[in-house]
Amino acid sequence: MNQVLIKNAYLVDPSMQIEENADILIQDGLVVKVCDYISDRDFDGEVINAEGLIAAPGLIDMHVHFRDPGYTHKEDILSGCASAAAGGFTAVACMPNTNPVADTPQVIRYMIEKAVPTGVRVFPVAAISQGMRGEVLTDFALLKEAGAVAVSDDGRPVRNAALMQAAIERAEEYGLLVISHCEDLDIIGKGIMHKGSVSEALGVPGMDRSSEDSVTAREIALAAATGGRVHIAHVSTKGAVAFIRDAKRRGVRVTAETAPHYFMLTHALLASRDACYRMNPPLREEDDRRVIRRAVIDGTIDCIATDHAPHTAQEKAVFETAPNGVVGLETSLAVTLTKLYHDRHVSLTRVIELLSTRPARVLGIEGGTLREGARADIVLFDKEREWTVHPDELVSRSKNTVFKGMTLKGKVIRTISAGRTIYQG
Ligand SMILES: [Zn+2]
Ligand SMILES: [Zn+2]
Repeated sequence: MNQVLIKNAYLVDPSMQIEENADILIQDGLVVKVCDYISDRDFDGEVINAEGLIAAPGLIDMHVHFRDPGYTHKEDILSGCASAAAGGFTAVACMPNTNPVADTPQVIRYMIEKAVPTGVRVFPVAAISQGMRGEVLTDFALLKEAGAVAVSDDGRPVRNAALMQAAIERAEEYGLLVISHCEDLDIIGKGIMHKGSVSEALGVPGMDRSSEDSVTAREIALAAATGGRVHIAHVSTKGAVAFIRDAKRRGVRVTAETAPHYFMLTHALLASRDACYRMNPPLREEDDRRVIRRAVIDGTIDCIATDHAPHTAQEKAVFETAPNGVVGLETSLAVTLTKLYHDRHVSLTRVIELLSTRPARVLGIEGGTLREGARADIVLFDKEREWTVHPDELVSRSKNTVFKGMTLKGKVIRTISAGRTIYQG
């Protein structure tokens, strides 16, 4: 019998509505007892003194790109999982824009199995369409059986509304979540950043908000028409928030995520012509930032996901031609604590709900709780510790962080997967 005892933690668990001091006893990878005092006398397992630390269910990021198979010079499943563990994450959902695309059971199984030794559970998101070409649906039944939890053509929008509608209907049949990357490529044209005063000043083509807004509205209409469910990825505009808020009010089955950079930063950073600040959707305006933050606070947006998208320094060297995307796993909790909790917008319970309990529910996976009997996936963090983001110190293979040089408040101290420590800071 393998036992671990966490002593003197401050437990935050939205699934039980708990924010209080607690000791946590773990046995054979499961939480077996949570209460205010458990004696460590005659205890022969590992004792972790968590005095001054928060203990919460392991974080879950429902939107990452681990580039494996195919682009492992940017990241692979092992380096991606190590980065996740360093950020307090014990589960991630990996997007299918790999090479080959994750549209077969073989690729899905490869992703899951390669991650097993790391302790971070990988939940693959399979492609909606074969080769992500937007023409023919993949075999949802086979992909689900292989372990996919959702379908998405993330990175590319599904242009054909009829195909998207069919995907929402079929996903419902197989208990898969449809995740939509809302973008209209005809509106985007050659745009490389948010279309506004900064893109104008730089003289570079912009990406109008209407691209994201119009496809968000379309997905909501398709979910409403079919009675099916759709999840909107990386919400970045005030318009998309308005559509989602209205849809939820009307009972449409829509959920949504945003990424930490959308409630912390704006397009002003792009004035530096640094491609590290380029991602898709792009950093928007102050108005959007505030509306996104409000939507996270009031529950219109369900989850915080990073859209962790590693690229090498070489690939990010030239502003105009660099690929979109930023890494995010190691800064997500700290940014959320800094901008939402320390700025007094939300409670610790809400932080953990956004980063663990809700994503588990939305994906329909185990996790997000430390109830007795649950898998002992736990993050221990110091919510007061300040640190400055130095890209070279990131565990991820790529260093393209949008938070470089910024000082954040809140640091992961230890990440535990099924009772085993997989990261120690
Ligand atoms: Zn996307
Ligand atoms: Zn993505």
